[in-house]
Amino acid sequence: MAGGRLLGFQDFKGGLWPQNTLCFPSPRGLKPAAMTDKIRRFLTDCRPDTPCLVVDLDVVARNYSDLERALPEAEIFYAVKANPAKEVLTTLLQMGAYFDSASIYEIETCLDIGASPDRIAFGNTIKKSRDIARAFAHGVRLFAFDSRAELAKISTNAPGASVFCRIYMGGVGADWPLSRKFGCEPSLATELLCQAVEDGLNPAGVSFHVGSQQRNLEQWDVAIARAAEVFSAVSARGIELELLNLGGGFPAHYRQNIEPVANYGKAIRASVFKHFGSHQPRIIVEPGRGIVGNAGILQTEIILVAEKSREPGRRWVFLDVGKFGGLPETFEEAIQYRITTPYDGGPAGPVVLAGPTCDEVDVLYDAAGYTLPLALSDGDKIELLSTGAYTATYASVCFNGFPPLSEYYI
Ligand SMILES: *Cc1c(COP(=O)(O)O)cnc(C)c1O
Repeated sequence: MAGGRLLGFQDFKGGLWPQNTLCFPSPRGLKPAAMTDKIRRFLTDCRPDTPCLVVDLDVVARNYSDLERALPEAEIFYAVKANPAKEVLTTLLQMGAYFDSASIYEIETCLDIGASPDRIAFGNTIKKSRDIARAFAHGVRLFAFDSRAELAKISTNAPGASVFCRIYMGGVGADWPLSRKFGCEPSLATELLCQAVEDGLNPAGVSFHVGSQQRNLEQWDVAIARAAEVFSAVSARGIELELLNLGGGFPAHYRQNIEPVANYGKAIRASVFKHFGSHQPRIIVEPGRGIVGNAGILQTEIILVAEKSREPGRRWVFLDVGKFGGLPETFEEAIQYRITTPYDGGPAGPVVLAGPTCDEVDVLYDAAGYTLPLALSDGDKIELLSTGAYTATYASVCFNGFPPLSEYYI
């Protein structure tokens, strides 16, 4: 949240500028594009230094209400790590959101903006004992675990709290899988949830994460089926679980088309009905990317367009933002942002896109087949769309001397 953020903000707040309208729909018109009139006006009138992230809070609010409409029975725990800016959290709190936190620091940020502790879950399965105790002292009562050792830490430091066990999912169909590090097998989950009772905890239920930017809707059915297995195995031992935590995974609009969130809602509701019948559990979702991704654009300046004799006709376009400036999700070209330039529609050719640091890994897209207008040259500003999630807080502090990404919330 760098110094420049207040530039022009007062004018903006004063309502001088029009409410956001969409400048261009996505190819299928399903999901709003990330560049809004509000962001365009901000960039034109305020001319912030690049690189900068500009987030339209109206889009955050709209994404939240779209998800609410798609899954009316779910409590929405926003995954704070996707974008922890206070403006985002406050917008969501006003709409009735709950918060899924990854650390004691995120918990305290949520408390700072006025969220009550019963709206906050400590959803990381990897926590220091003293952080569990500190969260408990703040009044947080809902904790995640996926191992016996973590369960023991919770029972010691948060006596009587509610816990849910994260089960393993392979991340199939997700562009940014969250698999290897998290989750246990359903059989261990069953055992540990029964153990939780003996430890004086309330075994609330089961969670999973199907992988971030999940484009295969069937993956929720796979996961919900596994969770239902745990519910019945635990029930066979005389303990009734009540909470089904469906995690995140709702997508933002990058280069590939995505289905509207309403379709995700339909698939999930059908699956919950299929596996739980009339015994509907209490349902939680933990969206991060799906709430803030589309709400932001990142404006960057071209530092250099270079032809290398090794590959004639293919230009290297060096930007003032790269992997270390907030775009680590371009790792292995996994997340592929859409790009707009001042010359869109003109003649274009293949490019390699790279960041400004003196590090070999600071290449954004090489194999992904990006083309950009031939007219581009140094000093031009271009925009990466749908960059509201997992960017600003991923920026390094001072690697190669570059400051963290500037952020504007409008
Ligand atoms: C990161 C994370 C989320 C958010 O995932 P998205 O794919 O951004 O929606 C939700 N829950 C947990 C436990 C997470 O770690």
